[in-house]
Amino acid sequence: MTMEVDILELSDRSAKFVLSSVSTAFANGIRRAMVADVPTLAIEYVNLYDNTSVLYDEQLALRLSLIPLVTDIETYIPQAECGCGGEGCPACELSLTLSAEGPGTVYSRDLISSDPKVQPADLNVPIVELKKGQKLVLEAVAHMGYGRDNVKWQAGVACGYKNVPVISIENCDSCGHCAAECPKGIIRIEEAGARVAEEDIIKCSFCKLCEQVCDINAINVDFQENAFVFTMESDGSYIAKDLALNAANVVKGKAEELISILDQL
Ligand SMILES: [Zn+2]
Repeated sequence: MTMEVDILELSDRSAKFVLSSVSTAFANGIRRAMVADVPTLAIEYVNLYDNTSVLYDEQLALRLSLIPLVTDIETYIPQAECGCGGEGCPACELSLTLSAEGPGTVYSRDLISSDPKVQPADLNVPIVELKKGQKLVLEAVAHMGYGRDNVKWQAGVACGYKNVPVISIENCDSCGHCAAECPKGIIRIEEAGARVAEEDIIKCSFCKLCEQVCDINAINVDFQENAFVFTMESDGSYIAKDLALNAANVVKGKAEELISILDQL
C-alpha cells in the first residue's frame, strides 16, 4: 500500500497530520530525524568585550546559545562535516554582534547578524536587563550542529505520534456513562446510542475509561497499527513544513548511503 498523508493543521511553527500505511519504525524514524538529525544554527561560543551586567559571562553565553536562529540549510553545513576540518569558515559558521548600554532590556532582536538571512526566530527573547551605566558588548559565533549533540541544535520540539484510534460501539443502551467519563468529551449520546464524530476520533487518548464504565461492553477502543496521528512543532529554525521535509531527506540520505555501501560490495 502506498503511504498517505492527510494534513489536519499546518502553520509556520506547527503541524498535525495523519500518516498512513507506514510502520511504527518508519514513523519513529521521522520523529527522531526531526529532533536529532536535522542540523540547525545555534550560538556555540561568545567573545565578550564588555559585560558589566548582573549575569556571569557563562550564563550569558548559555542564554544566547538557546535563542533559535532561522537556519538556511542550503548555505551552511555542519562544522563536523565541513571542508575546513572544524576550524570554522563561512560555510559552517557566522557571527552575530551585540552592543547595548543600560538602562533597558536587551532582546534577541538586538543581535546583528553578518548574514541577513540568519536572524533570531523570535525577536522578543529577553537576554538581560541592564541598569543605568551597565554595558554589554560581544560577538557571538553560531555553528551548524545536530540536536543529538546538544539541545540548542534541536529544531523539532514536541514531536510525537500516536496510532489512529478506532472506536466501535455496538448494542448501546444510551445510558450515558461513557460520555460522562470521557476526559476529551468526544462521546455524544443519541437516541440510537453513543456516537463519536469522525473528526473527533483522533482526539481519543486511549484512556479506555469509557470501556471501564460500560456495564454491557458496548464500547471498544482499539487502534490502527499502520496509521499515526503526528504532531510536531518547530523552534523556529525552520518552518514546520521544511522541518518535516528535511527530516524526510535525512531518512532518504541514510537509505541512499546504505545503497551505495552495498553497491560497492
Ligand atoms: Zn567550515
